[in-house]
Amino acid sequence: MTSADRPLLVLYTGGTLGMVETPRGLAPGSDFEARLRRALDALPPARRAALPDFTLVESPTPIDSSAATPADWQRLAREVAARYRDHAGIVVLHGTDTLAWTASSLAFQLQGLDRPLVVTGAMLPLEAPGSDAPANVETALHFAAQPALQEVAVGFCGRLLRGVRTRKWHTRAADAFDSPNYPLLGERVDDDVVLYPGRGLETRQRGAPRFELPDYAPLAEGGVARLVLWPGITARQVAAWLDDDRLRGALLEVWGGGNVPDDPALLGVLARASGEGKLLAAVSQCPLGSIALGSYAAGQGLVDAGVLCGEAMTPEAALTKLVHLLAQPLDDAERRRRFLTPLVGER
Ligand code: ASP
Repeated sequence: MTSADRPLLVLYTGGTLGMVETPRGLAPGSDFEARLRRALDALPPARRAALPDFTLVESPTPIDSSAATPADWQRLAREVAARYRDHAGIVVLHGTDTLAWTASSLAFQLQGLDRPLVVTGAMLPLEAPGSDAPANVETALHFAAQPALQEVAVGFCGRLLRGVRTRKWHTRAADAFDSPNYPLLGERVDDDVVLYPGRGLETRQRGAPRFELPDYAPLAEGGVARLVLWPGITARQVAAWLDDDRLRGALLEVWGGGNVPDDPALLGVLARASGEGKLLAAVSQCPLGSIALGSYAAGQGLVDAGVLCGEAMTPEAALTKLVHLLAQPLDDAERRRRFLTPLVGER
């Protein structure tokens, strides 16, 4: 059997896709594999017959992804690393709420992946009338069977997005994900899927697995924070986050093209945190476009305080990258260099 003939691996982690109604609202249901296979059997016969074979592995405790932590990202990456060689591609079934965070983290942990890994979920449970779940799984399976795809991607509503560029974009629409600063990697066209040429990872970033699977446990409980600025934020409030000695790094979501209030006390808090070896990075609150620290005087303070520029990275990618770098035994200069280097097409 060549590697392309090996069945796909489907990892089920939870999420709306596999949920059932309970007295307390939707929650993960049991007997997932039988339910999924039944839903796929109900596809029109030609589409059913065209489905790639797959082996399903269920998480022992499927979750609502709003409960996911870095420890879950680590467990999932290790599961993929242990099993991927026996499969032509991998599909991860995941709740939509934190799907983009998991996809981003998997990309940093599974660097150099030499086959497709497609994360998908659904806005409606498998058995709900008009559910998007069967078609999302079907499309993800087809994308995961494309050997030319060699990275972590998100497949949703007929579109394939780079995982580390993806954001949840809508609370209800079937088309709930977007990659605002990167074009689609592929699309479903009728019953086929196409990959757009020239948009996959550059050769040097793919095709030769060099997984990095550090222990996230020391960072899983608040080691890295995300701080979104608002007009009127004070140095005292920023200090409440950054002076915490359990904190190892923080992502700041700043104004527009890379600006913060010109407040010496606030900038002093940032500089103190950097001086203590905390890794600070900034991205914009605007979903589209990049930041360049220091183009305005209002951004120069970030440069002086040692804050790293996240350019057009998504908050999901920037924060999971901070976690990933801080979990490894690197010196500060190497962490800073790697943050500024595109590792998996995230910047
Ligand atoms: N709360 C659910 C989850 O993220 C939402 C979903 O899957 O769509 O698990």
